[in-house]
Amino acid sequence: MTSENIIEVLIVGSGFGGLTAAMNLKKMGINDFVILERRAFFGGTWKQSVYPGAAVDVPSPLYSIDGEPFPWEHLYAKQKQLAQYTEHIIEKHNLAPSIELCATVIEAKWCKTHWQVKLENGKAFKSKIIINATGPLSSPAMPNIHGLQDLRGQVIHSNNWHDGIDLNNKLVAIVGSGASAVQIIPSIINRVKKLHVFQRTPHWVLSRFDYHIPKRFRATLALRPINFALRTLIYWLFELRVIAFKYSPALLRVLGAIPAKKHLLKQVQDENLRKQLTPDFTIGCKRILVSDTYYPALQHQNTVLHTKDDYIEYASYEGLQTKQSGLIDADLIILATGYNPEKSMVSYQVIGEKGKTLGAQWRDYPRAYLGTSMPNFPNFFIVTGPNTGIGHTSALFVIESQMKYIMTCIKKLHEKSACSIQPIPEAEEGYTAMVHREMEKTVWYKGRCNSWYKNEHGKVIAMFPGFSFSFRRLCKKFAHHHHIIK
Ligand SMILES: Cc1cc2nc3c(=O)[nH]c(=O)nc-3n(C[C@H](O)[C@H](O)[C@H](O)COP(=O)(O)OP(=O)(O)OC[C@H]3O[C@@H](n4cnc5c(N)ncnc54)[C@H](O)[C@@H]3O)c2cc1C
Repeated sequence: MTSENIIEVLIVGSGFGGLTAAMNLKKMGINDFVILERRAFFGGTWKQSVYPGAAVDVPSPLYSIDGEPFPWEHLYAKQKQLAQYTEHIIEKHNLAPSIELCATVIEAKWCKTHWQVKLENGKAFKSKIIINATGPLSSPAMPNIHGLQDLRGQVIHSNNWHDGIDLNNKLVAIVGSGASAVQIIPSIINRVKKLHVFQRTPHWVLSRFDYHIPKRFRATLALRPINFALRTLIYWLFELRVIAFKYSPALLRVLGAIPAKKHLLKQVQDENLRKQLTPDFTIGCKRILVSDTYYPALQHQNTVLHTKDDYIEYASYEGLQTKQSGLIDADLIILATGYNPEKSMVSYQVIGEKGKTLGAQWRDYPRAYLGTSMPNFPNFFIVTGPNTGIGHTSALFVIESQMKYIMTCIKKLHEKSACSIQPIPEAEEGYTAMVHREMEKTVWYKGRCNSWYKNEHGKVIAMFPGFSFSFRRLCKKFAHHHHIIK
């Protein structure tokens, strides 16, 4: 800390975004940083998401931090092991002493040379730089069901799951049929008395091809050169999908729609049910789900599927009033309704130069140079910011790409003994125009669906419209003329 108690870097959020930021700072010899975490525990997504069946949808050798292999038990790690991995990273890099828990940031304000940061608990910090890593998928999206608070039964969003929830022999309703629902439903179907599944939109589902890695191979696969080779192979196989998502509807059919239809045909014999489970949008437009247990669970004797024509009209003390099936009693209602990326990308008020708020700058839609930095907001960097999502590979690859840009910016500040760095407006405008021009070629834009990738005006704000290696190249090649350093 300097004499004025100005911390060099304040990191907001302790998920993989915040942790990789801290690891990179340490590598650069910067130890003057604090990680603020609003929860009573650190670790982000995989410490929080403890709902039944929670697991990653990208093979673990790729969904891990570069150079930090782990003896994975499954090709697609389950939540428990992902939480262990998070703890391992924190311990190995001695990050715990730098994390402050129960520290919810409510405001950051630029004051000529530094940021002033206010916390909900009344504390305040000053820092030269902020790395915001509040996670686009860390705030639950709640459905608009009238009377939900009056229900006799318990209501829980999948994001808020905890050990105290009793499923045994209970009447359960689950709202949603996306990524979390597809994991929860097969994991609870054998325990509940009845499970009502409310599906607004059927999703495309592919076989998961999961593999339980025998104990004797785990350590070998975690050896650096072997892990690197495996990671590289998976990376390139997954990267091929971008050709399908962006350039080739024929390839999208071959790699996506045809295998997904075969998977459905193989697992669901009833023609009427198959019809109910067949999406009406182009595969890839929403996140493609991977499961071998979802369709069988939907056909379990305990399951009742309610499609969009049989939607929930309202809730009352007695239960859920449906359009076609009448009143449904439920001891527990699980809201598997996803997240609100726009709200959680930066989850507090940010006031930049000349009193400009981030809300005002993003009035039309969230936008940032390389999805990371913005004019009027000096020394402020967003991890997993606007248009940095990818539907085909590991989010950690993108986070690590952003780190290359963020750390270069910090290096430039040090080299020039400068006070601040920010992109020029023309650079941000040019980058954003390129992103949305390229987006028009992708299935996320053209695929005839509504998804969390889009904001309420239909603008795709979550995804990067290209190869992840193109994004990394942009992040690695610092364009001096795109920045004001002073
Ligand atoms: C259920 C689930 C499954 C997923 N599956 C995959 C997958 O298969 N593949 C993939 O690539 N990605 C997946 N993701 C995306 C995942 O979020 C990213 O891979 C990655 O974990 C993001 O890390 P992060 O640090 O950016 O965000 P997070 O892990 O969400 O961490 C953000 C942290 O910031 C904290 N925070 C938020 N606001 C504040 C505040 N105001 N003050 C202080 N702290 C704050 C939060 O409490 C949280 O701990 C999944 C996400 C979820 C939720």
